[in-house]
Amino acid sequence: MICRVVDREIPKYKHRWFGTLTVECNGEQFLLYSAGIPKWIKVGEKVELIPKAKPKVIKGINTFLFEDYELHKFYNGEKIKVWPYWVKDVELPRYSPFGEEIYRYRIRAREAVFESDFEAIAELEQFHYASEKEKVAIWRCEKCGEIVEANTKPKCPKCGEDMTIAEIKGSTPASRFLILELLNREAYEPKFLAYVRVDPPIPLMHRRLPDGRIERNIREKVFPRDWFHPVYSPELLMRKMFRELKEKYSKRVARHKLWEVATLKALDISNTACSRIARVVVHPDYRSDGIGVTAVKLAVEWIAERRVPEMRKKKHLVETIAQMARFNPFFEKVGFKYVWDTASGRPVLYYPLTDEAKDYLEKFLSTDEFARIHGGRLCISKYGRVEGMKKPIVFRNVSKVFESKLDIRSVSEEIRFLLSAFGVKSRVIQRCVIRNANFEIKPGEVVAVVGASGAGKTTLLRLIYGAITGKDKPTSGEIEVEKCKVSALIPQEIEPEFGDESIIEHIYRKCGDLQLAVEILNKSGLSDAVLYRAKFSELSTGQKERAKLASLLAEKPSLILIDEFASHLDTLTAMRVAKKFGELVRSAGITAVIVTHRKEVIEAMGVDKVIYVGYGITKVENYDRSVRLQR
Ligand SMILES: [Zn+2]
Repeated sequence: MICRVVDREIPKYKHRWFGTLTVECNGEQFLLYSAGIPKWIKVGEKVELIPKAKPKVIKGINTFLFEDYELHKFYNGEKIKVWPYWVKDVELPRYSPFGEEIYRYRIRAREAVFESDFEAIAELEQFHYASEKEKVAIWRCEKCGEIVEANTKPKCPKCGEDMTIAEIKGSTPASRFLILELLNREAYEPKFLAYVRVDPPIPLMHRRLPDGRIERNIREKVFPRDWFHPVYSPELLMRKMFRELKEKYSKRVARHKLWEVATLKALDISNTACSRIARVVVHPDYRSDGIGVTAVKLAVEWIAERRVPEMRKKKHLVETIAQMARFNPFFEKVGFKYVWDTASGRPVLYYPLTDEAKDYLEKFLSTDEFARIHGGRLCISKYGRVEGMKKPIVFRNVSKVFESKLDIRSVSEEIRFLLSAFGVKSRVIQRCVIRNANFEIKPGEVVAVVGASGAGKTTLLRLIYGAITGKDKPTSGEIEVEKCKVSALIPQEIEPEFGDESIIEHIYRKCGDLQLAVEILNKSGLSDAVLYRAKFSELSTGQKERAKLASLLAEKPSLILIDEFASHLDTLTAMRVAKKFGELVRSAGITAVIVTHRKEVIEAMGVDKVIYVGYGITKVENYDRSVRLQR
């Protein structure tokens, strides 16, 4: 049925999950229950109503409840589906670092339409800020109207009732939200994994050039002007309207009345061919699984299909402005291209939804004198190459004997009796930990040292470290190793010192570049920004292990020696960290000797060689990575 909208109702405090439209069709009126959709449909607009069930008579009015109808609107003769809300189910494989599928997530992406969805968004937002000072949502008591700010559903401080969510702070009435719901979840898993907030583009954008000059209204120079205008901006409307209202009402009343009027009017006016991804928040436990990339991809689909948020002009572009994009390439992984920095220095990225947009974007990137330099890329590895070793490390007939005195004279008589029964007497003990070891480690090789506890793995590392620093020597034989920059981690012996500074400060102090510091932390498996500001002492054992790894990498050593690599990490995390570590040291040209007892670490790291140490014997085997990859 083709109908005309004759009325709409948008309750102030429920506008995100409740609103109604009254439509008229052949002289008959119907009331339609909906979520936040009615604020985007103007009175007088033509719509198509497809009933899915018979209307119910409520207070004498034929009413279609939420699930009882489908609704389309029209723009330039094109039909746009607006109700029911957009839903897409996806399966996301969870891979091990060497590409084996472990299991599949079943995820439902859908527009946030229920009150509980917005409570969940506040909950996710709280993980993002992880700060008590920054309250993320505004809550309202339905009974007495009290308003409070809180992170999770509070009780009314006046009357004790449960409060309902009124608004997510930082969002505007024009914001729409896509949430990712985990289907088939276990009891310990969260219901919502992520959300994406989509807004109209920002009203004004200037560009800051590398030399500091400001180029005004840059978007309009690169793309058609009407892709960004008219845009949602109640502030602009208010300024105009305030002057008129001030003559009729007091200033305070005028301002209050104005905000509501201006907001609705701004929603009616906004009609752009660009959408902005204003926020992406992923549950902290799921950050390394590509959920962020998936969430953005799904949001892009939603925007293209439903023309979100306005549901008017066909969408050509998705815009995002995020400082975070400098440090984390996930927008680029989706296909966003970096274009420029805003006047305040924040990077802007675009995703073209149409061939037309692609052409404009490509033309700009290939002809603009500044864009040609970056070529649309923002997040580029800054680690670079280290000053690599020039000569191999050579062990020639190396033996190491530990000598200790066993003295049982000091123990009590009873214990002495017991020990002598086993033949233990006071004497000198000599233990040969490494015997006649002969091997070579070439510059840039990644080598694993394996063997049972106490078999001499740590001794081998100590000997290499000692040969460079002069702190240790073999009992016999010769170790040839050039004087080079060596970073070592032997727990309780050689460890980086963190002191009282935050992790990010520590890494930044060592490497001297903030972007590089973030890259190093990410590569070491500390990709949660909340952890950056933590002090070493506040971290868990596994996080400490990764922070130490980051600290070593920040030194940009020629040679890195690590004892018990990733021993406190769960299998999957250990594999991820090992894979990233392996890739980084290889591309940087660092020679690495890693002690581990974990096969999955050796495989994920992709070592060149394995040195087996046990009972004084060392055996070297080349690790055939091609065989491993084929399997
Ligand atoms: Zn109350």
